[in-house]
Amino acid sequence: MKYLVLFVVVIVGLMLIKKSQQPRSVRQPPSPNKPPQVPEAMLPCAHCGVHSPASRCVWRDGKPYCSDEHARLGS
Ligand SMILES: [Zn+2]
Repeated sequence: MKYLVLFVVVIVGLMLIKKSQQPRSVRQPPSPNKPPQVPEAMLPCAHCGVHSPASRCVWRDGKPYCSDEHARLGS
């Protein structure tokens, strides 16, 4: 009877170890469902002050503009 209890304790212990190890192995491969969004800088137009994403800015003389027209007009 003593050994039976010990056996059960060992089995339960092994199951707990397996359980605690499983999530770690699942988490290891990084597979995000959605791509990480890189926060894009919002730059104010040098002409009108409207903030627009850095990738959509029109650059002229080192200043960001919201559109070609404002880049032409200047600050
Ligand atoms: Zn503008």
